[in-house]
Amino acid sequence: MDFNLSPEQKEFKEHALKFVKNEIIPVAQKFDESGEYPREIFQKAWELGLINTSIPESLGGNGFNNLEACLITETLAYGCMGMNSNFMANDLALLPILIGGNEEQKKKFITPFTESFKIASFCLTEPNNGSDAAGIKTTFTDKGDHWEVNGDKMWITNAGYADLFVVYGTIDPELKHKGISCLVMEKGVEGLEIGKKEDKMGHRASDTRGLKFNKVKVPKENMLGNPGDGWLIAMKTLDHSRPLVASSAVGGAQRALDCAVEYSKERTQFGKPISAHQAIQMMIADMAIKVEASRLLVHKAACMADNKQRNTDIASYAKAFAADSCMEITTDAVQIFGGYGYSKEYPVEKLMRDAKLLQIYEGTSQIQRLVIAREVLNK
Ligand SMILES: Cc1cc2nc3c(=O)[nH]c(=O)nc-3n(C[C@H](O)[C@H](O)[C@H](O)COP(=O)(O)OP(=O)(O)OC[C@H]3O[C@@H](n4cnc5c(N)ncnc54)[C@H](O)[C@@H]3O)c2cc1C
Repeated sequence: MDFNLSPEQKEFKEHALKFVKNEIIPVAQKFDESGEYPREIFQKAWELGLINTSIPESLGGNGFNNLEACLITETLAYGCMGMNSNFMANDLALLPILIGGNEEQKKKFITPFTESFKIASFCLTEPNNGSDAAGIKTTFTDKGDHWEVNGDKMWITNAGYADLFVVYGTIDPELKHKGISCLVMEKGVEGLEIGKKEDKMGHRASDTRGLKFNKVKVPKENMLGNPGDGWLIAMKTLDHSRPLVASSAVGGAQRALDCAVEYSKERTQFGKPISAHQAIQMMIADMAIKVEASRLLVHKAACMADNKQRNTDIASYAKAFAADSCMEITTDAVQIFGGYGYSKEYPVEKLMRDAKLLQIYEGTSQIQRLVIAREVLNK
């Protein structure tokens, strides 16, 4: 077992960090305040080969493995967890095509993402079905030469800017997860209505909207796998994407720790830096333990995916532990900053708001524990 990164891995982590320090950190606060979509920054990240990390070399991608994708994601989230949500949503949308698509579909839908800058959305959640994803109500009706799509989606990242939508629906709600299917839809298709941008607590630089499908016609050849294959495709996607979400929690937590350490050495109370007070030292030590433990879980989940080992349990350990730790660490960072931590003049209040979402999307912390309990009890 070797915990060291290879020279190439260290090099592209540095490459990502340079981009984050020059292009993201200086403007993250401004985008958080305005809620503006950072399209130009997204495009620059694409030009530097830092997004769409799941695309293999055979399709024109960089051929990063899951561990390498996690290293990049952690670094981008260190700059801004909100912007990173937009970046990560591309991978989340492309993964089902890579996992469930045939060669023709991969070439048609994935290759354009390597040739020019494009944005994608993963569309599973609905207004009345979030955690209970097997109960989604969007219907795919077989009309002979095409599928007709009707229904609503909610909380879809990148929806206002996406060129491609990967949409889950059911061929028969009675079949529950056995009816779930997955279709690829291109932007501008008739009957697809894109909702208003949601006004959110955090991740304000990410674009989140509802979608309405009203008799949308989708060619038969746009279905990934067969009707009913969608559930398995979604679950396999999550095994790959949960380590990515967990690594964005590691990035946010590391940033909060770094900010807290720096501030605690500068801020003086009772005649000495607050870092000299043991109560602050204990908080910083706990924060550091949680960051490192989260990172190790992420790396284990990612390496298992890379070694083609089933990682459902470890991916959920990583997602739950890293997200919950990020919430605790960012809250402690605000505490270490005292009153100044509560002010928008310092970066930690944003980190605390951004951390909250990591416990909610891609399966809440409660749902991760349901997955883990099922895995542990059925061993
Ligand atoms: C900003 C943002 C971006 C998002 N981006 C996307 C996206 O790009 N694509 C997409 O498809 N979705 C996206 N989501 C949706 C996200 O994945 C869901 O919000 C999440 O899965 C939770 O679903 P819900 O909001 O309906 O909550 P609910 O499922 O209604 O859950 C509410 C509460 O009940 C708890 N709960 C539910 N069931 C159980 C149970 N069986 N046992 C114990 N507790 C339970 C939950 O943990 C939670 O605390 C996004 C959400 C947000 C907020």
